Amino acid sequence: MSSIEQKRVLTTEIPGPRSKALHERKVASVSAGVGVGLPVYVERAGGGIIVDVDGNQLIDFGSGIAVTTVGNAAPRVVERVREQVQDFTHTCFMVTPYAEYLDVAESLNELTPGTHEKRSALFNSGAEAVENAVKVARHFTGRQAVVAFDHAYHGRTNLTMGLTAKNMPYKHKFGPFAGEIYRAPMSYPYRWPGGPADCAKESFDVFTSMVHAQVGEDNVAAVIIEPIQGEGGFIVPAPGFLKQVNEWCTANGILPIADEVQTGFCRTGDWFACDYEDVVPDLITTAKGMAGGLPLAGVTGRADVMDAVHGSGLGGTYGGNPVACAAAIGAIETMKAEDLCGRAKQIETLFMGRLHTLAEKFPQIGDIRGRGAMLAIELVTGAGDITPNSALTAAVNKACHAQGLVTLTCGTYGNVFRFLPPLAASDDLLSEGLDIFETEFTRAAGA
Ligand SMILES: *Cc1c(COP(=O)(O)O)cnc(C)c1O
Repeated sequence: MSSIEQKRVLTTEIPGPRSKALHERKVASVSAGVGVGLPVYVERAGGGIIVDVDGNQLIDFGSGIAVTTVGNAAPRVVERVREQVQDFTHTCFMVTPYAEYLDVAESLNELTPGTHEKRSALFNSGAEAVENAVKVARHFTGRQAVVAFDHAYHGRTNLTMGLTAKNMPYKHKFGPFAGEIYRAPMSYPYRWPGGPADCAKESFDVFTSMVHAQVGEDNVAAVIIEPIQGEGGFIVPAPGFLKQVNEWCTANGILPIADEVQTGFCRTGDWFACDYEDVVPDLITTAKGMAGGLPLAGVTGRADVMDAVHGSGLGGTYGGNPVACAAAIGAIETMKAEDLCGRAKQIETLFMGRLHTLAEKFPQIGDIRGRGAMLAIELVTGAGDITPNSALTAAVNKACHAQGLVTLTCGTYGNVFRFLPPLAASDDLLSEGLDIFETEFTRAAGA
């Protein structure tokens, strides 16, 4: 457990005077392009609490965007990192390797969907993992085209910006983007034109006919999809869609890539979101939750696919850094020892009960979705009108922040309020956070 008392404490307004002073330094020293959601400067964090420089204790409903799944400064992560950082900090795995990298690769090969023989490669960020998955897929297939979906988010490097769907803020004026990227409509039950019931079948048909007509199956190296979309709005595709796409890819010599950077490592109540639908992708990308807050990412895939690349074709100076690997070993140990997949399911039950009760009172809650501790509500005008309500979303978010609850929004239309609490947070703490959220939502939605 964390040494920080798992309780919200407000000693100043949020942000307090010390945070405000630091923020003045930020404005004068850091590029304005690097935005800050809540300018509260952090001193310590543990479990589900963030302590700021003014001594306020905030409840964390964001986990640094689905990263500190095991809790902030989780004991096993801290212990492993402390030991590793004293032993050695870097040699570069491509120069003189070390066993910690192998431990992480073996864990990835064992834990990711499918019992087939696999290989992994480690990198520093989710975007870098996605880039490398695409490189591997192009190399193996000898094809160039990559198909991504509406509302997709795959990162901010040049190739991954091209794969990402949303212009503002990710792509605006940053082009030109990489070529041979095609976009298909996403299976999005809530906003499917023909209604949710027909979404699974129709969205698959639209996808396959689009690829056939606009790209040609034989030209496609990979189809990349988030099994539950993250930044695009926590969109859960219609049941069966993922499996159909996966099987269709295999039938056409195309490699399916599951981007599990946000959904992976217990977040959705399974080790990986693909597990829930019994989908076994050829390639899978991981990052965020894997290493308890240290930068680490992976590409895991079929051994024949991953081994097809020529020697030294993959790599990077820092990829699979030993300290980050040690953190991942500690995080994965924690997930197993504390059954964090089971914990995510408990959190789902707790949140879903409260959100459905709230939705009975407020027609502005148009949809409630997600799995495990990756949950969201989509806010709309209400009363049969599903026009996105980004103003209400922003107002509730701001009000929660002022009350010391760290919350996040997302969605192509900015109208999705998302919940990504650390799985280490207690029911008492989560309930306190939900109380604040309900109060602020009720106030902002005006009932
Ligand atoms: C966050 C995210 C990425 C990018 O990861 P970075 O570590 O920020 O580069 C890629 N894919 C998905 C699904 C993500 O959520």
